[in-house]
Amino acid sequence: MPGPVYSPVEMIERLVSFDTTSRESNLPLIHFVRDYLASHGVESALTCDESGKKANLYATIGPGDVPGIALSGHTDVVPVDGQRWHTDPFRVVEKDGRLYGRGTADMKSFSAIALAMVPEFIARELTTPIHLALSFDEEVGCLGAPLMIEQLGAELGPQPKVVIVGEPTDMAVVNAHKGVICFRTRVRGLEAHSSAAHRGVNAVQYAAQLIGFLVDLGEEMKARETPESGFDPPYTTIHVGTIHGGTAQNIIPLDCAFTWEYRLMPGADPDEIRQRFERFANEQVVPRMRSVGADTMIETELVSAVPGLEPDGESPAEALVMALARSNRTEVVAYATEAGQFQQAGIPTVVCGPGSILQAHQPNEYIELSQVRACEAFLRRLLNEVCAA
Ligand SMILES: [Zn+2]
Repeated sequence: MPGPVYSPVEMIERLVSFDTTSRESNLPLIHFVRDYLASHGVESALTCDESGKKANLYATIGPGDVPGIALSGHTDVVPVDGQRWHTDPFRVVEKDGRLYGRGTADMKSFSAIALAMVPEFIARELTTPIHLALSFDEEVGCLGAPLMIEQLGAELGPQPKVVIVGEPTDMAVVNAHKGVICFRTRVRGLEAHSSAAHRGVNAVQYAAQLIGFLVDLGEEMKARETPESGFDPPYTTIHVGTIHGGTAQNIIPLDCAFTWEYRLMPGADPDEIRQRFERFANEQVVPRMRSVGADTMIETELVSAVPGLEPDGESPAEALVMALARSNRTEVVAYATEAGQFQQAGIPTVVCGPGSILQAHQPNEYIELSQVRACEAFLRRLLNEVCAA
């Protein structure tokens, strides 16, 4: 008795209906997909996080002992809090040739279209397998995919020979993106009455010095620009996103913390900025703080690190996906994806998926139905590529 069959649009409706905002568990969606695949005789392997509330899903259609083509999508979405939605974000509404709903562009549609086509994949005799790789917590630092990538080549079967990450590119073939490395820096000063500033160590002011150093470093990165890279902007950027410090105007602040990141050009040294920042902190700033307060300190912790995707003209992923997308060119994008993580594991990877990144994270997010059809046609060409006849 074969399992239920969904059209691509019906499957998009189904996946969007699960509220998989990154702070929530994604298990209801994962269990739905697992059960759906099982009903078609396809087994899934789940890799869970420590809490047991999040899971990746990996499934292979076709022979299990040879490397295949992996279709990769993240299951989580960004929050809708505070956004002005005209419709329920978790119920797909079709209007004027578009499907509205959270995750329609970023990026449940790619996974949904692939899932809807599973019965079609099964009906053909695949010589090269198609793998489905669904991850959790992409939107909060690409935390889920590494757990799955670790088990490729072992528990999950052979490493795929190509990974297609279906983030929204309007079905363009993207072969490069920047990496993103995020940090939290805490400055612990020494409290004092503000009339006795010399007895205190002002955590806010020392944090400002550290931030000033980052701003200068950012200018230095800008001077190293490589316009031919195609990136906008064509250099590594540094950015401070949040800062919290101090308790009252008349107290020398004890604590100040800020979060910062750099978005690294592919091929750039991932450690340079952090090392120079720490050297400045330890050699220039901490000694001055300690001359007044022995217990003062600066601590910097890594919050997340997503490697960039490096262009590789020899990559079989580029050649295959350009042929499938009927495109003779590749593009670069500014946002980071899990593609860099797959590539770092040695798997040729490109990004190519339906919908526009301009819709990602927006209220009233939508995908054009024409993009759904373009992705379906793309996957059907892939199917023709990987089956015997
Ligand atoms: Zn995404």
